[in-house]
Amino acid sequence: EAKIQGKRRWCLFDDGMADKVRLRMQTEQHLRQAMTRQAFELHYQPLIALGSGELTGFEALVRWRDGQQLIMPDRFIPVAEECGLIHDIGEWVLRSACISAREWQDRYQLPLRVAVNVSARQFAAPDFVRRVGLILLETGLYPHLLELEVTESTLQIMEDSQRILAELKALGVSIAIDDFGTGYSSMALLKHLTIDRLKIDRSFVKDTPEAVRDCAICRAIVTLAHSLMLSITAEGVETAEQSAFLSKIGCDTAQGYLFARPLDAAALAGYLANWQQQNQGGDAPGEQAK
Ligand code: C2E
Ligand code: MG
Ligand code: MG
Ligand code: MG
Repeated sequence: EAKIQGKRRWCLFDDGMADKVRLRMQTEQHLRQAMTRQAFELHYQPLIALGSGELTGFEALVRWRDGQQLIMPDRFIPVAEECGLIHDIGEWVLRSACISAREWQDRYQLPLRVAVNVSARQFAAPDFVRRVGLILLETGLYPHLLELEVTESTLQIMEDSQRILAELKALGVSIAIDDFGTGYSSMALLKHLTIDRLKIDRSFVKDTPEAVRDCAICRAIVTLAHSLMLSITAEGVETAEQSAFLSKIGCDTAQGYLFARPLDAAALAGYLANWQQQNQGGDAPGEQAK
């Protein structure tokens, strides 16, 4: 630590910042180890059709298993983005999610969609589309069962987002704008880009149906989506009242704690087996899910 001689600290690099840098370097090092030790896991949160209550797919959400604790993505994805590890992590996430979706199809005969979050740097990689194509080939997943979620800011910083999206479309995968409404120039993006779905950010959902402004915003987003022939998913639905409101205004799909939390592998197997039995009246999968 640099001792400060004078009474005045003119240096930008104060102790707080030094701690932050140290923490970041530590996290980065641990992340590299985690990658080689395969310490990441995916949890899957159900996506529910609001009209019928039917399961339509899952969003894959990455977690880092560090001994007893489970580290959430907000704590390591930004670091991974900064140090470039996001390419390896993202590739692992995409492959694992496609393998899972292929399994749902094979084992349960359920054509469920899998939604995968793609970070800005990953999307910007020159070979991103090629990698997606290779993973689809390798896993044999139908491209229409894969949906990539990107944020407004990701699309905005890329000059050639339009070309990348067109190439992804050509592969057959669909594209959702995540956290819709929280970024800048949402309308300009919608004017120029071919996408398939908007996901209403949780911040707009959480105070419905009480808060009139939030209700108005949700309504406007749903109307906008439908006018543009886009599907729409509401994030972070926690109460029956929110669900009823969203259903009433025509929102197709929802996800949130009301329906299910993100499920780990064991919980997911139980959920799928249960869902299949209840809704299809069919036999449980012959082979007992792990
Ligand atoms: P997101 O894509 O907007 O994901 C939704 C987040 O909301 C998830 O947090 C989910 O667990 C949480 N959530 C879902 N339903 C509810 C609810 O009813 N109430 C509340 N309070 N929260 C709910 P999570 O898993 O911590 O992920 C946070 C963010 O990290 C994600 O936001 C996404 O941007 C990013 N992320 C997650 N997995 C990946 C990944 O594999 N790759 C990349 N690049 N980013 C990821
Ligand atoms: Mg997402
Ligand atoms: Mg989101
Ligand atoms: Mg969000």
